[in-house]
Amino acid sequence: MKNEIETIKKSIWDSASLIGRSLNLMEVCGTHTMAISKYGLRDIMPPNINLISGPGCPVCVTSITDIDRIIMLSRKYPAGIFTFGDMIKVPGSDSSLYLERSRGSDINICYSPKDALDFAIGNPHKEVIFIAIGFETTIPLTAVLIERARMQDIKNFSIINLHKLVPPALKALLEDREIRIDGFLSPGHVSVIIGSHPYEFICKEYGIPCVISGFEPYDIMTSIDMLLRQIKQGKPEVQIQYSSVVRESGNPGALKIIDQVFNPCDSDWRGIGCIPGSGLTLRKKFVNYDSSLRFPIEEINSADPAGCICGEILKGKKNPGQCRLFGKSCRPDHPVGPCMVSSEGSCAAYYRYERFKSHFVKNLP
Ligand code: SF4
Repeated sequence: MKNEIETIKKSIWDSASLIGRSLNLMEVCGTHTMAISKYGLRDIMPPNINLISGPGCPVCVTSITDIDRIIMLSRKYPAGIFTFGDMIKVPGSDSSLYLERSRGSDINICYSPKDALDFAIGNPHKEVIFIAIGFETTIPLTAVLIERARMQDIKNFSIINLHKLVPPALKALLEDREIRIDGFLSPGHVSVIIGSHPYEFICKEYGIPCVISGFEPYDIMTSIDMLLRQIKQGKPEVQIQYSSVVRESGNPGALKIIDQVFNPCDSDWRGIGCIPGSGLTLRKKFVNYDSSLRFPIEEINSADPAGCICGEILKGKKNPGQCRLFGKSCRPDHPVGPCMVSSEGSCAAYYRYERFKSHFVKNLP
């Protein structure tokens, strides 16, 4: 394997040298961000290759208004709220779910959405709310859960629907004139569900290559090599490096259940704003499972934390080293923004693996 990595590295350096100009390659997925930092892949890139992070961490792209709404809901209603671990520490405007739990709100960490539904079934007099978060990878799980709740006529279960879709976010980034992206490393597990077709607009409309990548260092290096070869040849296309699990047409069963339960809608992303068609809303037949209708709360004026540049980082415009709070007032034990909280966040990755490296404060071109 060592020899194979060396061969790929040489190919990357040869292509980068031939191309000559500076290139921004965006890894869309937070798991890629972590792997790149953990295995020091930035250290072995040619100087003209910038690996920049994108909006692929679901916790990080959840807007602060949505965080504040959940906090408000936990204060106002005696429901049991179930969430994945990272969400609990994300700071809202003046609190977090973690703080609210210490003040008495019924907030629970779960490892699977099924835990929340099982709790609702076992406690029929208790309202149970699941915070449904994640991209196409986790949406089928929520859809199955909702369908099961309807079939079993579970009346005390609902979801706060924060699911988001990846391709519309990539389109929004490509439309932003302040960001130059020369290639996408697309997320492997999202692509297991949606396949490769939904990315085709990237090369057809914007002339930018796209490689669906696995998560091991070998996968990521190979995918970078594939991107550079496309750039060198001037033939942008969507390629699948993670071919052991990704099919062009995705997973038809998962896509079908998503379509049965949800309709596309607009959605707010932290740092990016409202992206058309990037969210999902429950279809009419499942509307009783929408927490926002069952547990209304008043309008909230939310503001992102002062000095936090998570929004710019999620768009690939800045890196964590350019945040003046990094490692000072913002640390994993005291996060100011979600990118320092999440196990897939860029700031957490840099803090853990890269903060003492020389490239840390590297200005993007
Ligand atoms: S270091 Fe903290 S404050 Fe700065 S961008 Fe990252 S999460 Fe936000």
